[in-house]
Amino acid sequence: MQSRWSETEVAATVARYIGAGHDRDLAVWVYTTRLLGQDPKLVLHGGGNTSVKTILPDADGSPVEVLCVKSSGWDMATIELAGLPTVRLRPLQALAALPTLSDDRMVMLQRRLLMDPGAPNPSIEAILHTILRFRHVDHTHANAVVSLTNQPHGEDLIRELFPDSIVVPYVMPGFDLTKACDAAFKADPNADGMILLKHGIFTWSDDPRAAYEAMIAMVDKAERRLQQGRAMPFKGAATTSGGGVAAVAPILRGVVAQPTATEGQPRRLVFAHRTSDRIMHLCNASAAADLVSPGSGGGRRRHRGGAVRRRRHRGVQRRRRIPGPHGRRA
Ligand SMILES: [Zn+2]
Repeated sequence: MQSRWSETEVAATVARYIGAGHDRDLAVWVYTTRLLGQDPKLVLHGGGNTSVKTILPDADGSPVEVLCVKSSGWDMATIELAGLPTVRLRPLQALAALPTLSDDRMVMLQRRLLMDPGAPNPSIEAILHTILRFRHVDHTHANAVVSLTNQPHGEDLIRELFPDSIVVPYVMPGFDLTKACDAAFKADPNADGMILLKHGIFTWSDDPRAAYEAMIAMVDKAERRLQQGRAMPFKGAATTSGGGVAAVAPILRGVVAQPTATEGQPRRLVFAHRTSDRIMHLCNASAAADLVSPGSGGGRRRHRGGAVRRRRHRGVQRRRRIPGPHGRRA
């Protein structure tokens, strides 16, 4: 995974939002939130959240510290400022000291601290964002990180891979998770990120680009670790050298040529020569014949009207949406 940060695009976003009368910090928040949300390897629709701590004028014009945090359920990929409720920072932060807080009461108390009472509900992880005392906080449910944490020895894998990060055992999102993260962060305030087992990852910085790029760097590290441990499902076969594609293609074209009513003028097909790693991996498999035969789950072929169509094998089910590990959008 690579950073897609563009200073040119940041400048354009900032100019557009400032032109519409908005704060610069909020404009950058829109840019970074969309950048994260547009990568399905980081978040799916409604998941993840980001925040920025800034100072805005209160009703009487006096400055007030606020937390602007994504609202629950909004899609990060296309988010607008309407999906960014603004909450008074200090009283929200103080809620973390309560011993317990039910979901309903937390939603009510968070709403009571909104700068605009008509704003949507702040994320269920809003208080958690206040205890991470950095200007910009990003949170995703990155596939690679969750794939590692969900392994039987996921915690060991994560601790080995990210020795400078906080690791929090699985707790369902809500106030209990905030308390667990609060204790963990206080114990290690110089950590470079926080990984929530079977849930996701937080990165932070006072600089928006640094927070975003810390996320990308950590997810990239997790992706590389996954590649390293990946089993090879197709064992390679010993291949004999041929004459290359130029020597083989005319023979194949002759084999698949289709007779027509006119003698000596068969219908010929045009070949596209593709040799991606994944294709070559399958083609060179010692079990290639079994893998592509009917009943293997790799699909059946049938010829109809001259066209070659792929048919879904009965044993292969359509992908279905599966609820997340914690059953909530957070
Ligand atoms: Zn989450």
